[in-house]
Amino acid sequence: MDDEKIIYVLHCNKCNFKRFSNGNDIEDMLPLNLSDIPRNIPKLDIIKKKTIKFPDKKRTKVFRCPKCGFTVKAFKYNKPEEIQEEDDE
Ligand SMILES: [Zn+2]
Repeated sequence: MDDEKIIYVLHCNKCNFKRFSNGNDIEDMLPLNLSDIPRNIPKLDIIKKKTIKFPDKKRTKVFRCPKCGFTVKAFKYNKPEEIQEEDDE
């Protein structure tokens, strides 16, 4: 489950900062919570005895640009010439 094939692109509209990610290597990015919509709560896996965090795929992830501090959204990156917003129906 950890090796998601989906690639994300983080692009800052303000300073053109761009970064690609598979969703697991953006721990140094600062996530922003735009609203207080309840997020998925980590649950305890009683079998593996470790906390599991659900990937919140339903919402567009938002981060703070490391260069200028502007809001950066994460988009699904499907093809080199096609970028789709992560907005599942
Ligand atoms: Zn920026």
